[in-house]
Amino acid sequence: MHARTLEQLDARGLADRLLAAGSTITELRLFSRLTLDLGTLPSRFPFLLITPQYEVERLLEDRARELGVEFLFEHEVVGLRQDGSGVDLDMPGPDGAVVTRRAAYAVGADGHRSAVRQAVGLPFPGVSVIKSLFLADVRLAERPGSVLTVNGTGDSFAVIASFGGGWYRVMGWNRRHEVPDDAPLDLDEVKEVTRRPLGTDYGMHDARWLSRFHSDERQAPEYRVGRVFLAGDAAHVHSPAGGQGMNTGLQDAANLGWKLAAVVKGRVPEGLPDTYQAERHPVGRAVLRSSGGLVRLTRAQHPAVRAVRALVSAFVNASRPARAKALAQISGIGYAYAAPRGATAWSAPASPTWRWRAAASTRPCAAAVSR
Ligand SMILES: Cc1cc2nc3c(=O)[nH]c(=O)nc-3n(C[C@H](O)[C@H](O)[C@H](O)COP(=O)(O)OP(=O)(O)OC[C@H]3O[C@@H](n4cnc5c(N)ncnc54)[C@H](O)[C@@H]3O)c2cc1C
Repeated sequence: MHARTLEQLDARGLADRLLAAGSTITELRLFSRLTLDLGTLPSRFPFLLITPQYEVERLLEDRARELGVEFLFEHEVVGLRQDGSGVDLDMPGPDGAVVTRRAAYAVGADGHRSAVRQAVGLPFPGVSVIKSLFLADVRLAERPGSVLTVNGTGDSFAVIASFGGGWYRVMGWNRRHEVPDDAPLDLDEVKEVTRRPLGTDYGMHDARWLSRFHSDERQAPEYRVGRVFLAGDAAHVHSPAGGQGMNTGLQDAANLGWKLAAVVKGRVPEGLPDTYQAERHPVGRAVLRSSGGLVRLTRAQHPAVRAVRALVSAFVNASRPARAKALAQISGIGYAYAAPRGATAWSAPASPTWRWRAAASTRPCAAAVSR
């Protein structure tokens, strides 16, 4: 988890709980030559937090329950209708009985195959960027030097992250063995592919979970149709490079959540949530580009591209502004939303977001969650 997401959780009093469930790293090494010092980030969280995604989900679920949210597990959205005042969702439960709920707005945060996105007729254009990757949860006989170990050779790459409790998550790719997601996978293959870029398999043993997946780069052209919004993987997917997917989704939710709450409570004009598309769609596009760029550079075979990669790494290593820019993008700290032309906190012109912020400028907590 990156600094900007931690700041947003912190604005809700949640960051410290999550920090207790993970470990931090202050240095990111890319392409074996490029090192980024996260310790220089202008943030209360100048590091990357390594923690399993289920810890983040548990934290948010607990928080939602504290706030009185009711969860309907094992109910799948299969139908959606909207009119001028609300949205109806049909959800069959485990016994087959269909539950229908009506709300003023609906947010499709239902992942890359999003039924909500399909129900509102939005396409999900893009390409497959990596045809075959694997994941494995293993124990290691030998501890790596860092909680996050990454390297790529052009023909293969491997990532090992410490998950706590003595477990490590391994992700790998082998250009010579790109197979369908349901092809068998065993620990010997995981060890062999890991040894190529990392030089060792750290004595992996006792795999408790092995899986293959592929990675697409896609983005919905609109994040809103009427009273229905998309957030997270339902709106954008990309490669896991740079660890951006969950972070970007949580930042979408932070951007949209307070706006919908303010509209529902009648505190701001109904047009305010329109700023969600204007603010978050460009960030999604930028993340697609940066994570896609990282993957393509890591997998590059052509000597000219590898030479460019070495040059870019050397330049970024040597240039403080270039390092700061790369850090700002990876950590999310660099994303800011432009105010409308000519706007000031005093003039409070046309943009609803800006008018709301101007009104809220004496309330630091509200201003903090509006980022
Ligand atoms: C190997 C790997 C490593 C990654 N590492 C990182 C990382 O380090 N950092 C990072 O930020 N991101 C990372 N990501 C990306 C991250 O996991 C995703 O971006 C994130 O899970 C997206 O969250 P989401 O809630 O939008 O979608 P999902 O996690 O897909 O959740 C969607 C939810 O909706 C439910 N659902 C689906 N359809 C319906 C329906 N019809 N009705 C009701 N419910 C439905 C599903 O059951 C699920 O609970 C990684 C991804 C992979 C594959």
